[in-house]
Amino acid sequence: MRYHKIPDETIRRLPVYLRALLFLSEQGRQSISSRDMAEFFGVKPWQIRKDFSYFGDFGTRGVGYDTGKLAREIKKILRLNIVRKVALIGVGNLGSAVLAYPGFKIYGFDIAAAFDNNPKKIGRKIGDIIIEDTSSLSSLKKRKINLAIIAVPQEAAQQTADALVRAGIKGILNFSPCYITVPKKVKVITIDIAMDLARLPYYMPAG
Ligand code: ATP
Repeated sequence: MRYHKIPDETIRRLPVYLRALLFLSEQGRQSISSRDMAEFFGVKPWQIRKDFSYFGDFGTRGVGYDTGKLAREIKKILRLNIVRKVALIGVGNLGSAVLAYPGFKIYGFDIAAAFDNNPKKIGRKIGDIIIEDTSSLSSLKKRKINLAIIAVPQEAAQQTADALVRAGIKGILNFSPCYITVPKKVKVITIDIAMDLARLPYYMPAG
């Protein structure tokens, strides 16, 4: 089943809910009230009820929400109910940190391949992964990898994205601080932590 009408804002919050629900489930907590959930998620209770209303009613009055059921449903909506292999391009400082980050696992992501164009890095092993030459990106299709993370310098981001599209990649998480153009069927999400930091002072008291 596809869920056509879920707003992007709700989709943005679903991974937050999922992470908390998986944590609660792991702790053996089978249900949670919407008030506790709001506190746990840092979101208003009405917001939670509204978000969940887009995909059915998982709450029982007086008992609360079934954590396991809700987590499974959110995974289904986000299409995270399978392990998804991800390729990393650019194994510099940022890329290495991404490779070492354990937080991808809870969502079912497996960073299964890493590429770089620096001959000194190609062939080097990081954990279980051997860094490959970017000239072999086309192998991704065969390996059924359709998600990629770009961590190359800004000036190499567009050409990397083009190569990834040619290799059949359908989703790109772009850490390069620039806009990249891709065909419509490919989804790009750009994360620029400096840009997020740049919004913060506006909200802080002056002085
Ligand atoms: P280092 O100094 O170890 O290279 P860094 O994080 O300072 O690390 P950056 O210049 O940001 O390096 O580049 C990030 C990584 O992207 C590096 O490993 C670099 O070799 C790699 N890289 C640069 N251009 C490309 C490209 N066109 N294709 C693939 N990888 C690239």
